[in-house]
Amino acid sequence: MTLFIVATPIGNLEDITLRALNILKEVDLIAAEDTRHSKKLLTHFKINTAMISYHSHSGQAKVDKIIAHIKAGKKLALISDAGTPGISDPAWTLIQAALNAEIKIVPIPGASAFLTALMACGLPMNQFNYLGFLPAKKGRHSLFTSLLDANRTSIFYESPHRLLKTLKQLEEILGPDRSIVIARELTKLHETFYRGTTFTLLEQFNKQKPKGEIVILIAPQNFTWS
Ligand code: SAM
Repeated sequence: MTLFIVATPIGNLEDITLRALNILKEVDLIAAEDTRHSKKLLTHFKINTAMISYHSHSGQAKVDKIIAHIKAGKKLALISDAGTPGISDPAWTLIQAALNAEIKIVPIPGASAFLTALMACGLPMNQFNYLGFLPAKKGRHSLFTSLLDANRTSIFYESPHRLLKTLKQLEEILGPDRSIVIARELTKLHETFYRGTTFTLLEQFNKQKPKGEIVILIAPQNFTWS
């Protein structure tokens, strides 16, 4: 009994691995966060495997149903809307349930937005903290304060609608000179890395409304661009 956790592209469809394609073709069922969204990916690669939805609002009944499929001998793969399942999306509950049911978990690695951003950001990358989505309201101040003396790069996902507010708060708390990178629309047509400081990036996005999917990377306290 096996559950394959399959990474899919974060934009550029060429970023799917041969192994992922083979697994998605071979399994009996694909559990997908949004089946309509994932249908486009499967159609592009001429994959006809049936899908079942599994998303953040899926309750215990859906988890039980998926586990029952695997226990009945069905080969099942889990994908999310983009990237690596479980990285800021709902895979973990299913992985836990599968382990509790003594199902083997096989990872099929591939793209993830935070690692893709880290690869080209230019900030120290030997050690880093991936902190998921920034909280929308509560907890932001104490989180940002904890970065004052951070000794490794911190990485967040953020909505473009909140980016300006976030940069303002970061400038207030970390000061105008903290080095920051905004990685936008990774692997897509408008992929852009904005490298600067809290001050320069705030200036930049005050002039130009932030758009698209965004990763924020905050340098360790002692890093400056050379
Ligand atoms: N599982 C995904 C992964 O492995 O990165 C993350 C899913 S999370 C629901 C979606 C968030 O990831 C977006 O709001 C954005 O912050 C980030 N993201 C996803 N794709 C991206 C891209 N192509 N460029 C920049 N950020 C991206």
